[in-house]
Amino acid sequence: MACTSCSFSYYECVVKFYEDNEASLEFFRSHGVLPRTVVCPRCKSPCAYRKDRRAWRCRKSLPSSTPGPKKRCSYMVSDSKGSFLTNANIPPWKIVLFVNHFLSQLWDHRTVFECIELSTSTSVDWRSFCCEVTDAWFQNQDPIGGAGVDVEIDVTLIAPSRYNGSTYLEPLWLFGGIERSTKRKFVLTLKTNGEPPSKSTLAPLIKRYIKPGSVIYSEADSVYKDSISELGLPYKHVVISDPESLGEGDRVARRDENNSLIHLFWRELKMWVKRPGIKSKYMHQYLSRYLFISSVADDKTSILHKFFAQAAKLYPPFSQRQLPATCRSEDSNSETQSDEEDEGLQPDPDIS
Ligand SMILES: [Zn+2]
Ligand SMILES: [Zn+2]
Repeated sequence: MACTSCSFSYYECVVKFYEDNEASLEFFRSHGVLPRTVVCPRCKSPCAYRKDRRAWRCRKSLPSSTPGPKKRCSYMVSDSKGSFLTNANIPPWKIVLFVNHFLSQLWDHRTVFECIELSTSTSVDWRSFCCEVTDAWFQNQDPIGGAGVDVEIDVTLIAPSRYNGSTYLEPLWLFGGIERSTKRKFVLTLKTNGEPPSKSTLAPLIKRYIKPGSVIYSEADSVYKDSISELGLPYKHVVISDPESLGEGDRVARRDENNSLIHLFWRELKMWVKRPGIKSKYMHQYLSRYLFISSVADDKTSILHKFFAQAAKLYPPFSQRQLPATCRSEDSNSETQSDEEDEGLQPDPDIS
């Protein structure tokens, strides 16, 4: 659930944050992406925020045995050090709007270039930072279901397709589940070398991602029955009848009743991942981004909240976040004792 006054549609976000660095920084702080307070690691006293340098600084007087001017602690640290915004050399408001666009269905570098004036290479970098967040979420999806909750499960194959004469996808099996009432779901990629998944593949995943007590609906394929019964957990298993074996009148009714949220979802997902230009090596990114977006299907306005809360969880302020060499800034010397000592401090963002 989003925090108070933190739900925005795509356009509300643009209106609220466009060219507003203060609102953007406050948004980052209120979601834990940037720190609200910092304690000096040397003297354990609170640091003061220097807005002009976007840094936290300790100026505590140090005990001195010799007469003369008082010595002060010179610890200073960038407010974005180790965070999702590490070494960000673009204004905060552009980051909010970039993420806003990343989380919309129709991603493109052109809009980023034209509307927030980021170069293609910066856009590529930030796109991959955002994918780190959705990938981490994808790797650690929450289980669904629970006592008496109806959950549909299914596997599907993303088959190779041809586009302009060249094959652009490797075969990939997916396993997923969806709650009928809330549409909460999980989707997993299976490492089966293109083979249909077996009981030994599915059973541990059912156990991990579907809570005991759930009512599990699946097709008649014995792999589901065998996987579920092997676990010996209190699941109820309902087989969805094969529509082909039913009469015409039944077939329509059964389709409405049983056929099925998960099939609809597979169809949407395949439209997403099988567009021209899609490459197998980025399949994980396409899936994680799509699933992240679709995970807030009933409340699209909470998606920024969800994203930045996830970013803060992945990279809490002052974490050991490492950036790829191409994105890292040149100066990283930190343990000096000059008055303007800084740690991970960056040039001021180019606010125009
Ligand atoms: Zn929020
Ligand atoms: Zn200090």
